[in-house]
Amino acid sequence: MDITTLRIAFTVVACVLLVLFYFGAYRTTRAPFSGWWTLSLLFFGAATICYLANGTGLEVIANPLGNGFGVLGAEAAWCAARSLTAPPIPWRRLTIAPVIAIVAGLLGDPAHDRWSGGAVFLALMTGVLAATTWSLHRAAAPELGPRRLPTPIILVRALGTISAILTVFYGTRTVVFVVAGPHSTVFERWFDTAPTTLLLLVQLVVVSFSMSSLSTVQQLDDLHQRAVYDRLTGLMRPEEFRDQAADMLPQMAHSGEVVMLAMADLDHFKRINDDLGHAVGDEVLRAFGWSARTALGPRALCGRLGGEEFGLLFPAADFEHAERLLDTMSVELHLTAALPDGRIPTVSIGLVQVDPRAPLNTQLQRADRALYEAKAQGRDRIVRA
Ligand code: GH3
Ligand code: MG
Ligand code: MG
Repeated sequence: MDITTLRIAFTVVACVLLVLFYFGAYRTTRAPFSGWWTLSLLFFGAATICYLANGTGLEVIANPLGNGFGVLGAEAAWCAARSLTAPPIPWRRLTIAPVIAIVAGLLGDPAHDRWSGGAVFLALMTGVLAATTWSLHRAAAPELGPRRLPTPIILVRALGTISAILTVFYGTRTVVFVVAGPHSTVFERWFDTAPTTLLLLVQLVVVSFSMSSLSTVQQLDDLHQRAVYDRLTGLMRPEEFRDQAADMLPQMAHSGEVVMLAMADLDHFKRINDDLGHAVGDEVLRAFGWSARTALGPRALCGRLGGEEFGLLFPAADFEHAERLLDTMSVELHLTAALPDGRIPTVSIGLVQVDPRAPLNTQLQRADRALYEAKAQGRDRIVRA
């Protein structure tokens, strides 16, 4: 098969998959995975269309541009892989490698040499593919987080394997290109456009198939997060807090660890809302959520039980230790939620040591009475029950 036919076939497959993906996976799930993969297909398609201009007057610009789109397509696939575990990369940083590929192409002799800037392009592709392989390797690790839904590890491993094969292929391609040159027999036989396009075609189909399943998993994961966590504060919703706290009691009874339960309520919160507006009130709630999560440690269960009332369950050596942790939380709150009028939001807390053999509700009531006492004594304090 000649290269032009192969390229046209590749473009057609990429376009069909793009349409299927956009409407089939991305529009229905809005999962980052399918969004990035749709973009990747778009860029790979654009790259191949640019390469179709080989041998025409346009190739002087089309070839370097094709290299740029190729690198961008690989980067989008990398972002798809990263979206399983890590926050997104800013757009601006994603333009660096494609721009380098384009400039390298232009600096050569793109009017006569279809491999102008080839070494730089191949090296960049190898680098991005290696990063993708690494991201997939990390995503296949079991410790994705305690409350995440299980990602279909086998699918991620399959993608990781394909990515590794492509990385090795491009790595070898780069070395042969630099050492033997693009017109050597070994390069033309094994690493030229035809074998590469065939390999990429197989990869396109396999990856698209796996990605549609992964998009569904990401959507489920997102729904799960929304069901469990309160949007504003990032703390657990009341039902989840009660469920997890009740689950913890028998474990604590078994291990003999000291665990504290605190009920916290923001002071004169209605005034903050009335004087400064609901949006400022929301900021204070968000700041409280952040303070609780940072101050009480990774094993703490923090729930938003009502409007500005919170349940906090956390291990501590004794009452003094628990009070130190809660004081840290208050200081964090003061620092993060500085109000426009200079007022400092404070919090009243009722604190009990959990008796793992007593029902959770009884302990919540004890903590609530201590909280009421803290309010009665003048607020901005911790009262032990
Ligand atoms: P106290 O010190 O006795 O606790 O006084 P308080 O004003 O904090 O208590 P009160 O229960 O009278 O008021 C709670 C207020 O919290 C009333 C309600 O408008 C506000 N609130 C509840 N949920 C939200 C929310 O999501 N955002 C904002 N901005 N305010 C909220
Ligand atoms: Mg209050
Ligand atoms: Mg209240």
